[in-house]
Amino acid sequence: KGPDPDIVTIEERMALVKHKILILSGKGGVGKSTFSSQLSFAIANKSQDIQVGLLDIDICGPSIPKIMGLEGEQIHTSSQGWDPVYVEDNLAVMSVGFLLEDEDEAVIWRGPKKNGLIKQFLKDVNWGELDYLIVDTPPGTSDEHLSIVQYLKTSSLDGAVIITSPQDVALIDVRKEINFCKKVGVPIIGVVENMSGFVCPKCNKESQIFLPTSGGAEAMAKEMEVPFLGKIPIDPLIARSCDEGKSYLTTHPDSEATKQYKLIFDK
Ligand code: ADP
Repeated sequence: KGPDPDIVTIEERMALVKHKILILSGKGGVGKSTFSSQLSFAIANKSQDIQVGLLDIDICGPSIPKIMGLEGEQIHTSSQGWDPVYVEDNLAVMSVGFLLEDEDEAVIWRGPKKNGLIKQFLKDVNWGELDYLIVDTPPGTSDEHLSIVQYLKTSSLDGAVIITSPQDVALIDVRKEINFCKKVGVPIIGVVENMSGFVCPKCNKESQIFLPTSGGAEAMAKEMEVPFLGKIPIDPLIARSCDEGKSYLTTHPDSEATKQYKLIFDK
């Protein structure tokens, strides 16, 4: 039996991608998709010469089309495969959200179908040459994670960034996430604590609204011997920028959250 032709095609596509980064979170709603989108915008905005792809495999709750300002867009096919949707010439997006008929349609698929779709995304999306492929994954560690790791591992995955909020319940799941990465051999780029404190826009003073666990992600990262990348405060304007499909770092260049995002992205 020869090699699986699908795997050969994935390897050929992925050979054109220099860096591949998975964005993971233990729980939903901690800001994973927000982080994936802002990271993609930030890398693409650095230089027109840097080609960025954002792949959203959050099959049950794809929010990337909206955050990237691409709601209602459809995928086009060509002889080269599925063409991603472009935000800018150097920023391409593919999401299961583009395949849904309408926004409220829920995707309830069984494991094999999800795996099939992930395989198809990796095999058929015509990214061309990319400097970075950012992969926004569903929360937790499910079949989708195993599939993506299995398909990407052979073509060298840079690693995973794990997003968490400061609460204990979220941190417990981050431990599971870290253990998953260690088990399947995915390098951990680091942990990010999102929604970490609130900076008052009037007095610029920070309040720790999740006391007493705020800062817990840093201690946990240290204990589990993985890098801690930084903390992003709560800023309602982040949610607004996402709702409007805009880059928060571009629309709010001087905010505290932008400062923290930049410190993290520079690592
Ligand atoms: P996930 O992908 O982990 O499910 P999202 O990225 O969709 O989470 O974020 C959940 C909600 O929280 C969104 O409405 C988003 O705009 C908002 N959000 C994310 N990070 C922040 C933050 N640092 N400050 C304020 N709102 C945030």
